[in-house]
Amino acid sequence: MPQLSVVIPAYNEQDNVPRCASEVSRLLDSHNIDYELIFVNDGSTDRTWQRMSQLAASDERIKAINLSRNFGKEGAIFAGLESAGGDAVALMDCDLQHPPATLLEMYNVWNNNRGEIDIVEARKKNRGKEKTIYRLFAKLFYKMIGNMSGLDMRDASDFKLLDRRAVDALLRMPERLTFFRAMSSWVGFRTEKVYFDVGERTSGKSKFSARVSIRYAIHSITSFSSDPMQLVTVAGVITFLIALVFGANTLYNKLTGNSAEGFSTVILLQLVTSAIIMFSLGIIGYYLAKIYEELKHRPRYIIKDKLNFDDKDKS
Ligand code: UDP
Ligand code: MG
Repeated sequence: MPQLSVVIPAYNEQDNVPRCASEVSRLLDSHNIDYELIFVNDGSTDRTWQRMSQLAASDERIKAINLSRNFGKEGAIFAGLESAGGDAVALMDCDLQHPPATLLEMYNVWNNNRGEIDIVEARKKNRGKEKTIYRLFAKLFYKMIGNMSGLDMRDASDFKLLDRRAVDALLRMPERLTFFRAMSSWVGFRTEKVYFDVGERTSGKSKFSARVSIRYAIHSITSFSSDPMQLVTVAGVITFLIALVFGANTLYNKLTGNSAEGFSTVILLQLVTSAIIMFSLGIIGYYLAKIYEELKHRPRYIIKDKLNFDDKDKS
């Protein structure tokens, strides 16, 4: 078993896969680290898988997993984690936005403190080239997640290195709808931070458009906290208070004899309350859908091919 497994999910990264492989191998080789690179092809529609197979054929330390379709980054991450055999498993993006030099730094932190530090997480020193509005949303999102889960998620990323103990703990978590970034904090263990500058994407486009990011944010919050459902209760309480005030006001008007309450007030109240009800039902419905999805116990991913994994490795 190697010392270090590096899991690299890739979706339509045909040009980044070879570049990432050569940069990471060169660096780890030059420091005599015993490693395996595990590329996970997340249902790419370009030549990503061909590139991975070529790499796997040329170097047995480069392993490749081909998923049957695009399962999303979370699925790809867990496919890699479950197949990794290293004493430590690191996760990094394929587009070299996660600098290999930081990977080495994380490895050294772990290796010099074996048995003590089980997780090394890389935090973003800056957020790279991002629009201000996006940055604002990200900040709000992590604040919410932080408040709800009690985990410090500011500037967190999926760029992490986990000791075997932490990986096994993570893999024992049974949920289907995963959120790696938060789950790897939730398992506890002593965690050390390193900081990195988010680099430029070497080629290709980001897979996280505004729409995907919003969906990912909602998914992450709800997979980690049921607090949004409490909003329903809060909305109920607020509506009730408003109703009390209005009721008292109407009664007062009636008693003082000028009950010229308008039809429009009724309509307005109707609209407000039905909006709150629909909004609340929406939130509950969302959780119901999540429960339904979890209940189906479907796999997090489906593997089509695996290259360079011998029988001794877990599959
Ligand atoms: N990725 C993946 N499956 C997806 C979307 C993304 O495996 O459905 C991979 C992608 O190939 C990259 C990493 O996740 O290695 C991060 O994606 P990206 O660079 O697009 O995200 P960003 O850096 O813009 O947040
Ligand atoms: Mg990227």
